[in-house]
Amino acid sequence: MSDERKHHPFGCSKWPDLLRCADYKATEGSSPAAERGTRIHKLWELVGTNQDIPKGSDPEELSHAVWAAGVVDELSDAATCEWETKIESHEPEYFGHSDVIWQSDHRTLHICDGKSGQGNPEQYIQLIGYAFALLQELSGIEQVELHFIYWDKRQTSSFQFSREDVLHTVDEFLSHVSSGKRGVGVQCNRCQNYEGCSEVKGILFRSWQTDWELVWQSPESVASLKADLDFLMSMKDKATEKIKAWVDEGTIVPGYKTFTRKGSSKVLPAQAWQSLKEEIDADEFLECCSVNLKKLQSLYQLRTGRELEGTFIKPGKPTTMLRKTK
Ligand code: SF4
Repeated sequence: MSDERKHHPFGCSKWPDLLRCADYKATEGSSPAAERGTRIHKLWELVGTNQDIPKGSDPEELSHAVWAAGVVDELSDAATCEWETKIESHEPEYFGHSDVIWQSDHRTLHICDGKSGQGNPEQYIQLIGYAFALLQELSGIEQVELHFIYWDKRQTSSFQFSREDVLHTVDEFLSHVSSGKRGVGVQCNRCQNYEGCSEVKGILFRSWQTDWELVWQSPESVASLKADLDFLMSMKDKATEKIKAWVDEGTIVPGYKTFTRKGSSKVLPAQAWQSLKEEIDADEFLECCSVNLKKLQSLYQLRTGRELEGTFIKPGKPTTMLRKTK
């Protein structure tokens, strides 16, 4: 990620969203999660190419980068890796940036992408887009292997596609995009069509029409109501943002005003200890501190190369969570 990445309107990073909804239109903007992902990508490239790491890098982010670079070493098995490659397709016309690519032999191309968070089932199409563009130049490649590295989960997943599979998958994807078929999903909040979208309105309409007494008698009805309510939760966030923006610019929104809440004070632990160590002993001071386990694990792993273990780590109580199945 040597320079700021430029984005093409039909760039492959948008393909997973387009696979969910063929009429998705991306809005500009970033988020703290996206900025964290960019920092880890940058560190990953620096570690992978043996460059200096900026002082003051977050240990947790750095440990993800070190781990992911180790995975690339293992997967590429001493092949020459190209980091942060600009990839261009002529037909259809688009460009994108792959994280790492290499060839394990003159017939097999590997494309590797680092991801924050859990990942989603549509992500594969992004790398298919890169593969499709690269295959236009690399006529001898018969097989493509796509690798996802999920640093937060410390997991990888790989897929194999033949040249024909890639061409066929892109064909199907392009015909899906040209169909304009809409589908709601996580991308809706980032879509320019959101406010007038008939699919979004359909959810409001369906929820409004729900037979509130009968719905509780059927697992199928509650499951589909839950999916709609999850979407409505994100609509609530959108409404909150909109009202805040209006009030901030001076528009009257009945029943709402904004106010500034005092930020909560934070203690700088090292400075606090230096100032207080004459009056408070170390045990008492540590009782007042909470340790960030993830950061401690990352720091320990960076220093020693080993996983942090010890009876001082008390496992939390298991809780029952709901996970959506297909
Ligand atoms: S808001 Fe509508 S057009 Fe946009 S992604 Fe969602 S369903 Fe598709």
